[in-house]
Amino acid sequence: MMCPFCNIDDDKVIDSRSTEAGKVVRRRRQCMRCNKRFTTYERVEQTKRLVVVKRDGTRVPFDPQNILKGVHAACGKRPIPEDAKLRLAEEVEDELGREFDREVASSVIGQRVMHKLRAIDRVAYIRFASEYFQFELGELREEVEELHNRGPEVRDQGDLFR
Ligand SMILES: [Zn+2]
Repeated sequence: MMCPFCNIDDDKVIDSRSTEAGKVVRRRRQCMRCNKRFTTYERVEQTKRLVVVKRDGTRVPFDPQNILKGVHAACGKRPIPEDAKLRLAEEVEDELGREFDREVASSVIGQRVMHKLRAIDRVAYIRFASEYFQFELGELREEVEELHNRGPEVRDQGDLFR
């Protein structure tokens, strides 16, 4: 652990005790360089796992890596710094963690990523958006085809009025 006084990572634990009914471990440390003492607290990481509801209704565990994959695919060889992509993915992950308790629609995640990409790079944004809206177009096309297939039925009804 880096010493808060001299910033050197060289310390020994001189005392370790459990507090808050075992939820927190408090460690008293001493820096081997400057000999000053400081305290660290150790807790179990919050493991609130979000579930993503996909368009077809299936549910998968939320994986922040998937956001990054989508961003990478959209950015391609665009001159966008890697840390900007990482920050975007982290921001979306943080927002989702704050705003959603259990489930989040995949379309919501897509919209968030799209919105943030727009502020970074227009070409990457358009690539991501066209990928995103292909799903929507696919659904629209199915409806149009269904209507088209019902054509004869619609025409039959039309005959009534002749
Ligand atoms: Zn020190």
